[in-house]
Amino acid sequence: MALKTDTNFLDVLIVGAGFSGLYLLHRLRCNGFDVQIVEAAPEVGGTWYHNRYPGLRCDVESLEYQYSWSHELRSKWRWSERYAKQSEILAYAKWVADTLELRDDILLNTRIRQAKWQEDKKKWLAITDSDAEVSARHIVFATGALTVPRMPSISGINKFHGDLLHSAAWPEQPVDFQGKRVGLVGTGSSGVQIATAIASEAGTLQIFQRSPAYSLPARNRPLSDSDYENFLSHLEEFDALAMRHRGGVVCPLPENGVLGVTQEEREKHLFQRWQHGGAFAFTSSFNDIQTSETANAPVAEFLRARIREAVKDPDIAEKLCPDYFYGTRRTCVDTGYYEIFNQNHVQLVDVSQNAITEVTENGLRLESGEEFDLDILIMATGYDALTGGFLAVDVTGRDGLTNQEAWADGPATLLGLMISGFPNLFMMAGPGSPSVLTNVIRSIEYHVDWLTRCFEDLRAAGLAVIEPSEEAQADWVSHVNDVASKTLFTKTPSWYCGSDIPGKPKLFMPYAGGLPAYREKAEEAALHGYRGFRRGK
Ligand code: NAP
Repeated sequence: MALKTDTNFLDVLIVGAGFSGLYLLHRLRCNGFDVQIVEAAPEVGGTWYHNRYPGLRCDVESLEYQYSWSHELRSKWRWSERYAKQSEILAYAKWVADTLELRDDILLNTRIRQAKWQEDKKKWLAITDSDAEVSARHIVFATGALTVPRMPSISGINKFHGDLLHSAAWPEQPVDFQGKRVGLVGTGSSGVQIATAIASEAGTLQIFQRSPAYSLPARNRPLSDSDYENFLSHLEEFDALAMRHRGGVVCPLPENGVLGVTQEEREKHLFQRWQHGGAFAFTSSFNDIQTSETANAPVAEFLRARIREAVKDPDIAEKLCPDYFYGTRRTCVDTGYYEIFNQNHVQLVDVSQNAITEVTENGLRLESGEEFDLDILIMATGYDALTGGFLAVDVTGRDGLTNQEAWADGPATLLGLMISGFPNLFMMAGPGSPSVLTNVIRSIEYHVDWLTRCFEDLRAAGLAVIEPSEEAQADWVSHVNDVASKTLFTKTPSWYCGSDIPGKPKLFMPYAGGLPAYREKAEEAALHGYRGFRRGK
C-alpha cells in the first residue's frame, strides 16, 4: 500500500506494527478514525519479527502473552506450548493482522526518520526514509521499549574475521554452530537462551559473563486440550487476577511477607513457586521481596542454593551466583541453562574483574592479555532500552524543541503517554509507565484503550490539540522517582536505569508502582477532564 498523503491527511499516524500498533490501528479504525501504520520491517510483529536468535521464547506464558480484549481471538488461536517460541508468536501477530484485516492500513518497509509539529496547522508532518511526507493530527510512537540493539564499544569490533552476530539483529538464515568455536558475550535473557540452545551444537562455547543473572526454570511443556478447556472456561477469573496483579499476570497476590513467616514456611513456599516455573509466580511468592533488603536476602540465597545444586564445579557455581538483590534486573527464564556448565566444552569466562578490552581478528582479548580464538562471536549485549526507539527518530515539537533536548537529562513524560512540548504525540508503554515491569501485552492494551477514549473525547468536544502541562509532567516524574526509591530497583545498576550505556542519564525509567495503581492514576486523569493535560482547538 502507499503512504496516505497530505490531501488525505490522517487523524492518527502510528509508527510501528508490533502488538501495540496493531491493536491501536484496530480500535481507532473501528471508531471511525482515519489511521495508518508505518513500519520499518518487511512484516508485522515488532520485536518478534526482529528477534529470531536460537532458543528465543517469551518469558511470559503464552496463554497470557496474547490479546485479552477479544474473546474471539483468544478462543480461535491455539498455542502449542506453555512458553511460546518466537516463530509461533510471530505467526500469531501475522494471523491477527490477517484476521482483523489490518494490512490495508499498514505500510511496511518504510521508516519514519523525522517528525515535525506544525503549530500553525496543528498537525504533525512525518518524513520517511525515502523522503515521502505524511501529515497527521496525532502521531503515536508504538516503537517498543527494546528496539535499538546495543553493540558494546569494545575496540576492534570490526576487525573480527569470523562471524559477528548480535542477538537482536540475527540473520534470517540459520547459523551453523556445528563444531565451531563460539564466543558469547552477555548473560541477560537473550544470552541465557542462546547459550542453552546452541551448547549442544557448538564445538566449544565460551560464555563471557560480566554479571550473572538470576534465571528461573520455565518448566515449559506442551499445552493439552484440558489446559485449553480450563483456560477458556475460567477466562473471567484469569482476567480478574491479571487486573489485580501489579505485573498484569495471572497469579494470586502474595498474602504474606517473607518476614511474616517461619523459615520453614518460607523455604516451602519458595520451592513450590520455583517448581511451578517462570519468574512472575516466583517473584510474587511474598509481598516484600522487591521492597525490603532483609526480605530479599533469603530469597536470593534460595536461588543461589539452586545454582549450586545444578552446577557440579563449585567454583563455576559461585561465579554464576548473583550478589545483587533478586528481582532488581529482569529475571531470566530458562530450560537447562545452569546444566550446560557441566559439559566439558562449555566454559564460563568471568570478565567482571578482567574486562574484554579488544576484539581481534581471531577473537577476544581480555585486560589480563588472555586471548580466545573464535569462529563465531555473539554479542547478546542488549538494547538502548526504553528511550532508544523514540530518540532514533528526529522529532521536533513546539518552538523547535527536539526530543534529544527534551530528554537530555532522561525521559520525562506524563503517565508515560505524552511529553510536554510535543502536542498530540503519544507513546505506547513508554518510560514513566509500568511497561517492561509487566506482562507488556496488558500494559499495551490499557494504553490503547486510554488513547482511543482520549481521541474520542477530543472529537466529541470539537478539540484538536492535547499536551501535558509542564507542572503535571514534573509531578509525574517526581512520583515515578519517589515510587522507585521505595523499592530495591534503584539499588542495582540495570538497563531499567540506563546504567548499561555510557553517557545515558542514570534514572529508573519505568513506573514501579504496578499496573493497577498506574491504571487508577491514568483513569483519574481522564475522568477528571484530562487533568494535567491542556486541551484546545
Ligand atoms: P541485557 O539484559 O541488557 O543483557 C546484556 C548482557 O550483556 C548483560 O549480561 C551485560 O552485562 C552484557 N554486556 C554488555 N556489554 C558488555 C561488555 N562490554 N562486556 C561484557 N558483557 C557485556 O540484554 P538482553 O539479554 O538482550 O535482554 C534485554 C531485555 O529484553 C530483557 O531483560 C527482557 O526484558 C527482554 N528479553 C526477553 C526475552 C524473553 O522474553 N525471554 C528474551 C530476550 C530479551 P552487565 O549485566 O554486566 O551489564
